[in-house]
Amino acid sequence: MSPPVFRFAPSPNGYLHLGHAFSALLNADLARQSRGRLLLRIEDIDRARCKPEYEQAITEDLAWLGVTWEQPVRRQSEHFDAYREALGKLQALDLIYPSFESRGEIAQMVADRGDDWPRDPDGAPVYPGSRDSLSEGVRRARMDAGEPYALRLDMRKAVKLAGPLTWREAGRDAPEGVIAARPDAWGDVILARKDMPTSYHLSVVVDDALQGVTHVVRGEDLFWSTSVHRLLQTLLGLPQPTYRHHRLITDSAGRKLSKSTQSTALRTLRADGATPADIRRMIGLPEP
Ligand code: GLU
Repeated sequence: MSPPVFRFAPSPNGYLHLGHAFSALLNADLARQSRGRLLLRIEDIDRARCKPEYEQAITEDLAWLGVTWEQPVRRQSEHFDAYREALGKLQALDLIYPSFESRGEIAQMVADRGDDWPRDPDGAPVYPGSRDSLSEGVRRARMDAGEPYALRLDMRKAVKLAGPLTWREAGRDAPEGVIAARPDAWGDVILARKDMPTSYHLSVVVDDALQGVTHVVRGEDLFWSTSVHRLLQTLLGLPQPTYRHHRLITDSAGRKLSKSTQSTALRTLRADGATPADIRRMIGLPEP
């Protein structure tokens, strides 16, 4: 049997903090314990926010922690063609449509729907439009006129085509076993943003498959995103990995760590004299 494949997939839009250290070290520990492979993927599709100096810092911080990964590192910004191809498949299934609204217009549409308009699992209002909001002719004319648009998944149609979905959850810190996916809770998610030819959901699913990832180990803030990932995998005919969503490291007030807080950045802690063993202790990971 081929060895299990794990990956750590940070975005280079800031310095790694203790939460990233937990995720990276857990992936590395699990890969080592199972004689598996560990890949590093740089999720840098957001060209405005991602910077080469942060990518450089990520590799330095990981090496300092003692994490080793296989080469080559996959950089998402170098693979827009792969995401375009996946979009083409969804388009051929007639599952995506362009939407032209600005953030402000969407906020106004939501406000018009009233206070009890549904929210997605991240707490953001579900997109209030639908592919029927505009006729095919009007959409085509606006695209031809060069108006910027995002591509959205027609969730109702996609869910109907895919049928009921589940995923295998091996999380020690999350419910174990088989989880029923609920992609419809996200509404018509964006698969390609106005300013980039892909989105987080699409790229992560395409890359996990292309890289042969068998075990996705990541923070439990992404637990319900897995519903969308399972849907896209099914529509695109991609294999399903096993998922393990781990607890999040929080600050003393119980808040999720942020890349903008200096005090929990690995480089700050290192400069203050912390050792990799100290970091393991701080995040409650046993010595390897
Ligand atoms: N790039 C994502 C992040 O930094 C992680 C994506 C994933 O593990 O699926 O939060």
